[in-house]
Amino acid sequence: MDKIQMTTPLVEMDGDEMTRILWKMIKEELLLPYIDLNTEYYDLGLEHRNETDDQVTVDAAEATKKYGVAVKCATITPNHARMKEYDLKKMYKSPNGTIRAILDGTVFRTPIVVKGIEPCVRNWKKPITIARHAYGDIYKNTELHVDKPGKAELVYTTEDGEETRSLIHEFKTPGVVMGMHNMEASVESFARSCFNFALDTKQDLWFGAKDTISKTYDAKFKEIFQRIYEEEFEEKFDKAGLTYFYSLIDDIVARVMKAEGGFIWACKNYDGDVMSDMVSSAFGSLAMMTSVLVSPDGYYEYEAAHGTVQRHYYRHLEGKETSTNSVATIFAWTGALRKRGELDGNEELRAFADKLEKAVVSTIEDGKMTKDLAVITSLKHPKVLSSLEFIKAVRETLDDLLD
Ligand code: NAP
Ligand code: MG
Repeated sequence: MDKIQMTTPLVEMDGDEMTRILWKMIKEELLLPYIDLNTEYYDLGLEHRNETDDQVTVDAAEATKKYGVAVKCATITPNHARMKEYDLKKMYKSPNGTIRAILDGTVFRTPIVVKGIEPCVRNWKKPITIARHAYGDIYKNTELHVDKPGKAELVYTTEDGEETRSLIHEFKTPGVVMGMHNMEASVESFARSCFNFALDTKQDLWFGAKDTISKTYDAKFKEIFQRIYEEEFEEKFDKAGLTYFYSLIDDIVARVMKAEGGFIWACKNYDGDVMSDMVSSAFGSLAMMTSVLVSPDGYYEYEAAHGTVQRHYYRHLEGKETSTNSVATIFAWTGALRKRGELDGNEELRAFADKLEKAVVSTIEDGKMTKDLAVITSLKHPKVLSSLEFIKAVRETLDDLLD
């Protein structure tokens, strides 16, 4: 078989620990034998980030702007322990944070649904994608503890000194106060990313906030979504047979629990943090969750939702066999290859991405899986495979599909 050709490079961001090991296996077993892989390689492994003073992360993000599509391996976010372990020059920021700051965008997380790994919620038949706004609110807050009687006020001072005040509370007894903010431009780009992603994946969009209680703050989110929908997207949604609707967050939660799935749920920052953990664990496993950063300018960066699986890596270093789930990392690759194929009009590449995903799903549905899935599957007598055995099993299924 002739290898599939690629016309435009894909930005490849390598990473750390166990996922770096999986990365290499995936390339060798599932990609290089079939594709004349055209990537621009950036090593975001912590050692190389340290050598380059983290410039490599910035370069990788800039390359994503140039080529439009990137695939990223999980990476270590340094903390004190990592500073010592890797003898770092400084405590570098999270690569995902750096990339997000450069590309600006929204992270969409979608579970990979297979038969035999049933969601806890019986009626969920299709994936539910969480779109989380990644700027502001409680994540950029200012807080105070007050322990003497007094009054807390919200004060806004314009550049030319004009003040607006409003009373928060008159304290007679100790208490707590918090201030937070968001920016219209950020909410607008969040809204555009959500509408574009809905059109892209042909799914309805739901958005929930609490505008009955927060009549200015949350109401502004609701208003911005509605305005952008009407001005820029309503016609396209109508044409595609899709709907957008807003409701109160509690009503949305109730509807989500009763729904079949197959839609995108846009969440404010805090709601997205909480709800994405609920949705992913209810669907079975973090190792079965994909994640894509979509920028308002139409750049895409695909990755797995989980981390570098440090515990498994240490076992691997001791020479012990691991059974680490590579599904989300494989799907990061297929997501990126499919998008590359779409953008380049490369039908072969798109078809390959579909087949590889199909091969992964049927391998698991056939009862061959890694340990994390074997302990939760409803299939009888699953066959527990090592990290490499699973990838090789997928390759066998893929070869059958490609025949
Ligand atoms: P983690 O890598 O997600 O792993 C936590 C635990 O979840 C693992 O010990 C394992 O449980 C299970 N698990 C996660 N992914 C799995 C997989 N693919 N297959 C099988 N089991 C899996 O989180 P962490 O250990 O808290 O973080 C490790 C490093 O990852 C940290 O340095 C953190 O900074 C980084 N991180 C990076 C990203 C990213 O790049 N996007 C995201 C999150 C964390 P058992 O050990 O019980 O088997
Ligand atoms: Mg969280």
